[in-house]
Amino acid sequence: MKDLMMNAAPDATRLADTLIELVRIQSVNPFDEAPGPGRREQEMAEDLLARFHLLGLETGWREVEQGRPNIWGRLKGTGGGPAIMLAAHMDTVGTEGYGDAFDARLVDGKVTGRGSCDMKGAFACYLEVIRMLQASGTELPGDLIIAGIADEEHLLTGSAEMGRNGPGADFGIIGEPSKLAICPSHKGQLGAMIRTYGVATHSSGPENGVNAVEHMGAVIAHLSGLNAELQQNPEPHPLCGTGRFSMNVIRGGAFVSGIPDYCEMEIDRRFLPGEDPEEILEDYRRRLRELKKELPDLKAEVSGPSLLAPALNVPQDSAVVAALTEAARGVLGREPEITAFPGGTDAPNLGFPCVICGPGDLAQAHSTDEYIEVKQLVQASSIYLQTVLKMNGQG
Ligand SMILES: [Zn+2]
Repeated sequence: MKDLMMNAAPDATRLADTLIELVRIQSVNPFDEAPGPGRREQEMAEDLLARFHLLGLETGWREVEQGRPNIWGRLKGTGGGPAIMLAAHMDTVGTEGYGDAFDARLVDGKVTGRGSCDMKGAFACYLEVIRMLQASGTELPGDLIIAGIADEEHLLTGSAEMGRNGPGADFGIIGEPSKLAICPSHKGQLGAMIRTYGVATHSSGPENGVNAVEHMGAVIAHLSGLNAELQQNPEPHPLCGTGRFSMNVIRGGAFVSGIPDYCEMEIDRRFLPGEDPEEILEDYRRRLRELKKELPDLKAEVSGPSLLAPALNVPQDSAVVAALTEAARGVLGREPEITAFPGGTDAPNLGFPCVICGPGDLAQAHSTDEYIEVKQLVQASSIYLQTVLKMNGQG
């Protein structure tokens, strides 16, 4: 049986065909709008569940909100092995400026379309793993769970719900597009708001008011060195490096003849594993108090988090990292890259050690020319299969 499994090969045509079908199901994240057909996960979830049923998996479905479920399929183990979850998010980003976004095709060894790379390709690979196990008659001691998660692209409410209510596992892999690099860590993201308050008056006498927009200008100048300062951190994280800060949205003022009494700015902080978001907010407040010494009539406040995505920090000597590394080495014929994932993911919300490793390149994700190489789908399927076998003592 072991020899059979070592020779099990993913079926490239089936992988591409499955992915084309999945991309054609629209599952754009509704973001702040009301979910509806095409702008929710439900249709994608129904399709995946039908596939799980055909493969004989035990299935589950739980709504995070109406039309926006988390789902899962479980290949029951014979007992005594670790439960492993292969997880992916079912939502995609929008398609503005992307004409034929859902007209998925196979072109020059690539599957095209919104979600092909980020990250429906991972589902095609996970289904292929189940098929390979079943075709070879392999029974795993541990459960193998495929999870479809809602709302990764916006607020991570799906993974937060799954972390609270299950299903759980001992280890997980999320096939976000990492070009098959193994990513045990990533930074977290903290969004916050700074507001300045002034005194409105006619612009013929600005000295009679307090200009909230000009005060925000002073805030911007005061914070402009923070990103460089973070990069001077003498103790960078071994994979994530140093934190980042940026000031990205500003709103203030109503008309040109009035001194504005209000301005707001959204700021973004990418923080390292171990950094406390509350302390980051407190640091902003401290910096504003500093500025107030130079600018006594400054009235500014910080609020947040407006967005909080936790950092990921699975130890590099974790069993799942070891098994993935060994599997990837065998499949790729080279030493796999072990690095931090550039963005935030569902992984830290799930509540067990969960590592990012997936087919596709983040450069194509969210673009208006999204695609994934079928070759990487094949390689990812083999890496997942071998990892699962190794962790069950069968590889
Ligand atoms: Zn993604």
